[in-house]
Amino acid sequence: MTIRLAAYLQSDSIVDGEGIRTVIWTQGCPHHCLGCHNPETWDFAGGAEVPISEVKEIIDGLEGQDGLTFSGGEPFMQPKQCAEIAKYAKSLGYNIWSYSGFTFEQLLSLGKTKKEIMDFLNEVDVLVDGKFELSKKSYNCLFRGSTNQRIIDVKKSLKARKAIIDDKYEKVPSKNGRKRQEGVYI
Ligand code: SF4
Repeated sequence: MTIRLAAYLQSDSIVDGEGIRTVIWTQGCPHHCLGCHNPETWDFAGGAEVPISEVKEIIDGLEGQDGLTFSGGEPFMQPKQCAEIAKYAKSLGYNIWSYSGFTFEQLLSLGKTKKEIMDFLNEVDVLVDGKFELSKKSYNCLFRGSTNQRIIDVKKSLKARKAIIDDKYEKVPSKNGRKRQEGVYI
């Protein structure tokens, strides 16, 4: 099995979730948000097909990382591949974040007919959901580009069958935190 990626895995990120993280940039996005900083990731025929085995080998070689973050692009357009990678990373002790232009509620709805959506969601610890909305752009949201996006505790939310926001990320970041976030959107 292969996954279509927009770029090589990027280690040592501090803006794509809590801690020091490695980011998997998936290729292909149907949302086309106005103001998206990664429009080159929209094309479903763009990027490159990479064997999952190769991604696992890269994960095997990681050092000093707290977790993996799926970004893009839209990770939930390749749920089967992302689920397999996430499951493997979790088996090695990494926590999993994923960004999605879909809301948590939309993913639950899609998951009713596409089992692989739920398979991937079940592997995710924290979901940053919703499209980037230019009119709601803010530098005061941790790990997000616009105020409509939510940081969701997926385990609690799946149990409750409703989105439960992780409060600890609601605080306004420090001046340095804001600087780090500038220009970073999903
Ligand atoms: S901001 Fe994210 S969800 Fe929106 S178009 Fe860009 S890659 Fe897709």
